[in-house]
Amino acid sequence: MTENRTLIKGADWLLTMDPDLGDIPGGDVLIEGSKIVAIGPDLGVVDANIIDGTGRFVIPGFVDTHRHLWQTQMRNIAADWTLSQYLVGLLGTLAPVYRPEDVYAGNLLGVLEALDTGITTILDWSHCAILTPEHADAAVSALTESRSRAVYAHGNGAPIWIDRDLTADWSDLARLQGGATGGLVTLAAAVRGPDFGSLDVAVKDWHAARDLGVPITVHIGVAGYSHRPVAQLHDKGLLGPDTTYVHCSRLDDDELKMIADTGGTVSIATEVEMHMGHGYPPTGRLLAAGVRPSLSIDVCTGIGGDMFGAMRTTLSMQRAIDNDLIIRSGIRPAHLEVTARDILAFATVEGARTLGLGSRIGTLTPGKDADVVLLRADTLNMFPVNNPVASVALAATTANVETVLVAGRVVKRDGKLVDVDIKRVRQLAEDSRDYLLRQTPGACLGGAWQPSATW
Ligand SMILES: [Zn+2]
Repeated sequence: MTENRTLIKGADWLLTMDPDLGDIPGGDVLIEGSKIVAIGPDLGVVDANIIDGTGRFVIPGFVDTHRHLWQTQMRNIAADWTLSQYLVGLLGTLAPVYRPEDVYAGNLLGVLEALDTGITTILDWSHCAILTPEHADAAVSALTESRSRAVYAHGNGAPIWIDRDLTADWSDLARLQGGATGGLVTLAAAVRGPDFGSLDVAVKDWHAARDLGVPITVHIGVAGYSHRPVAQLHDKGLLGPDTTYVHCSRLDDDELKMIADTGGTVSIATEVEMHMGHGYPPTGRLLAAGVRPSLSIDVCTGIGGDMFGAMRTTLSMQRAIDNDLIIRSGIRPAHLEVTARDILAFATVEGARTLGLGSRIGTLTPGKDADVVLLRADTLNMFPVNNPVASVALAATTANVETVLVAGRVVKRDGKLVDVDIKRVRQLAEDSRDYLLRQTPGACLGGAWQPSATW
């Protein structure tokens, strides 16, 4: 029995994110197979593999609801690019020369980086590297190998992103449904929407995804790329609870309400939206419309890949907007609208809900899958612990992530990923990076490459 049971024993704090269970000061988590079976102050279990929780927080694994993993080996190449430059440099220039092994190298590095920082579920928004079925297989193969929970969002190839009127071919997504995935990897359709394709194309994409029975994820409301895109989709009767709207920065308030009223979900990538010119992250406007958003990293070509930075930036950005409004009216802010607990919820339970996985993950709840992270609470940046939720949301860093479990399996232990050959991952990434640069006239490292802003 012991082989199949894991007991996290005597943790300082269990931050369950389950409204019925709350924050438990001092407690155990019992896992059998892939599931959490019990949680409480002292479960009295001895017949189990023990993970010492002393001096640790236990939280649900983070969920990143939108990331383009394929480009991770080009990390920071777009550090000083606008969105328009990024589209020219990444989608227009680099993506068309990607080979299947480049997709594999980027995906493997990116998904392992995410796991290492406590992101146990990731949506891989695979939108331009998929030129052949072998490209898609390489992406899925890296996700599966990582032992992360993942949603593979198939986005077809670069040509459809370059030509707004080109109809997407979803036959490769249908092929993957036939069995190439499974286990912890599920599928979605990454569609263009009115920002990056014609409305006729959008209608076809939504219907194709629904015919296949997969969820839909779409970039939308990005500054300068369309006018009232959600209203356009609404007029066509396409909005629904199966759709995740990414960014939403420039949507009107009534469009956010349309998303809320049709049960849609939202992913905001605060840092990228602020850096690249998408418009203000709409956290507060979403909450006012009745949508609790999830968080995403989007592109490691621009920013870092962990959820701690995303949580801090999202909270500070919204507080700056809220406070500025009050100050401009001539008074001092009396209280803060969005809380540290909201932000931790966005990064966990709301992420799970956004990906349609709310009944399986996102909280520490008996019966759910055991996607669990242990954070060191005994480090200089964490003690004394006076507000445990704020400690995690606002003070912790990746250095605090000590142990990570996905579906009950320990994938990181004592601060190190288990059974991962990091030297190999690095070699694959660097070889791929060097190959891609050789295929790209004008591209170089060090920040000097500045693509034209013509997309
Ligand atoms: Zn994106």
